[in-house]
Order: sequence, then C-alpha cells, then structure tokens
Amino acid sequence: MSEPMFDRIALIGIGLIGSSLARVIAAKGLSRHVAIATRSVETLRRAEELQLGHSYYTDPAEAVQNADLVIVSVPVGSSAAVAEAIAPALKPGAILTDVGSTKASVIAQMSPFVPEGVHFIPGHPLAGTEKSGPDAGFADLFVNRWCIFTPLPDTDPAALEKLSGFWRRCGSNIDVMDAAHHDKVLAIVSHLPHIIAYNIVGTADDLQNVSKTEVIKYAASGFRDFTRLAASDPTMWRDVCLHNSEAILEMLARFSEDLAALQRAIRWGDGDKLFELFTHTRGVRRSIIEAGQDVDAPDFGRHGIEQQPSK
Ligand code: NAP
Repeated sequence: MSEPMFDRIALIGIGLIGSSLARVIAAKGLSRHVAIATRSVETLRRAEELQLGHSYYTDPAEAVQNADLVIVSVPVGSSAAVAEAIAPALKPGAILTDVGSTKASVIAQMSPFVPEGVHFIPGHPLAGTEKSGPDAGFADLFVNRWCIFTPLPDTDPAALEKLSGFWRRCGSNIDVMDAAHHDKVLAIVSHLPHIIAYNIVGTADDLQNVSKTEVIKYAASGFRDFTRLAASDPTMWRDVCLHNSEAILEMLARFSEDLAALQRAIRWGDGDKLFELFTHTRGVRRSIIEAGQDVDAPDFGRHGIEQQPSK
C-alpha cells in the first residue's frame, strides 16, 4: 500500500456508491481518515457496524470539516440541499465532487453554494447495480468502468488531475466532457434503457390476458433482463428523470419514431427491414463485447446498469 492521497475524505451519502468508495478507499489506503455523513440514523448506524469509515455524522457540515476531498453521493434531487448545508464548513483548497447520474442539474444546484477557493469538479462513475444502501457496495465496483468529469470553465487543472488520480486508483478510466453532452450520452445509454425497463415491466404486470404467474414463470425468455433494470432504486431514478428531462424527452421522441417504423415493418411483413435492423444491432453488441463492457465483464455481468458511452 502506498502513501495515502488525502488526509481526510468526507463521504456524504453512504449508499451503494458512497459505501463502494469507502471500501475501495480502505482497501487501497487512499486516505488517512474517512468521515461519513448520511441523512438517517439507521443508515449511519449500519455504516458504523460495517466499519466503513473512522467518524460518523448525521450533520454533513461536521463531516466535511478539514476534509481535503468531499464526495457527495446522494440522489441528484438532493444536491442543492447538501451543497447549502456543507458550504460554510468546506476547507479552502478542498476538492468537492459528486457522483450524480445527471450533470447539468447538479452543477446548477451546487455551484451557487460553492465558496471561493474550493475546487468543485462534477463527476459521474459509470458503474452501478440495481441495489442500494451501505450493504450493497463493494470495493471493485469501479474497476474498468469510466468515470466522467464535467469540469467548469474555471476548474483548476491541478485539482482535476488530483481527482482523476484518485479515481484511477479506484480502478476507473477517466473521460472529460461538458455537462450537456454527458446528459445526452447518458440519456441514451443509461436513462432510456431504465425507462423502457420500468415501462415494459409495468405493462406486463398490468396485462389482463396474461397472468402474473406466467410472466414470472417464463421470464427467462427476455423479460428477466428488464426486471433487473426495473428493480433499480425508485428515488434515484425518479430524480434522474426529473433532472435530465430535456435530454431524456429528446431521446424518447427519437426512440418512439424508430419504434413506429419497426411496428410498421412488422405490420407489413417487411422481413428484409427487420432482418437488416437485427443484423445491425447484433454488430453493436459485438462492439460492446470487444470494448470489454459486455455483461460478462467482472462486475458488469452481475449488475450492468450503466454503460460506457461511445466516444
Ligand atoms: P443509495 O444507495 O440509495 O444511497 C443514497 C444515499 O444518499 C444514502 O446515504 C441516503 O441516506 C442519502 N440520501 C438519500 N436522500 C437524501 C436526501 N434527501 N438528503 C441527503 N441524503 C440523502 O444511492 P446510490 O445508488 O449510492 O446513488 C447515489 C448517487 O450516485 C445518485 O446521485 C445516483 O444518481 C448516482 N449513481 C448511481 C449509480 C447506481 O447505479 N446506483 C451509478 C452511478 C451514479 P439515508 O439512507 O440515510 O436516507
């Protein structure tokens, strides 16, 4: 184990992502001290039982005191409230980052509260599972996954390099892009698949002429893969939908058009069109396997929630 990168890291939110960070920080010795804050006493107690950090708080402002790195891992809709609460206690020179699945909204919510001298670098590790809470995390969640930063125009390059180094030590590959682009890319590779999954599982559950027992019994025919996505945390995904609505609606409009074309091909018995599309999409799948981002990759096979964007 080499020299710790930080003296004190504060983790605000200790669910799947926060607790995975706690575990990898401990495993790799990335910080001398890890301070943990979460909203509820129950979750805090569980984090303590799991020995995820060194000090524990329900007040996030106490956790961030003297922290060199603060990582906010809460549902994106809570970003403003957390930023407002911690802002007065942030140490000058500290790096403040987040892991939220939408970026433009998080920047809009947090930036107004960030004090002068604190380096705010929005981030998003493209790694996850359908599980939530402190028990769900694991140290290798971020291995071979992309972590995207969406820096602000005045972001200090040295702070960005330091944060990139931290995520590299967690096993991630780094990409940098602007927030609007991130939100569009993620709308198609992550947000839409989840929305489609939520919708198809809801539809199947609502059918009159197919019983729920049959849906469960024959799920392996394809439905099962959707149910894993549709089991994802309702609060997180409600917030993602509400905070990336523009990009999601744009992608949904495009998706609906393409679905209508597919519907027409089926109605008119246009086998060539169906064959052509299905052959093309098989190629897309092959490219994902070649990029090492397929469902059989080490952690992706078990979870596979968020995928690597194409460059
Ligand atoms: P999670 O397991 O549900 O944990 C959420 C944490 O946030 C808990 O510690 C929870 O505290 C706290 N929290 C919830 N509501 C809050 C509020 N209103 N104010 C303050 N704290 C609150 O969630 P997660 O999966 O780790 O997701 C955290 C963030 O990571 C989200 O922004 C999500 O978009 C992003 N992300 C998720 C994934 C994924 O696949 N899960 C992947 C990449 C990024 P209590 O339990 O004490 O209430």
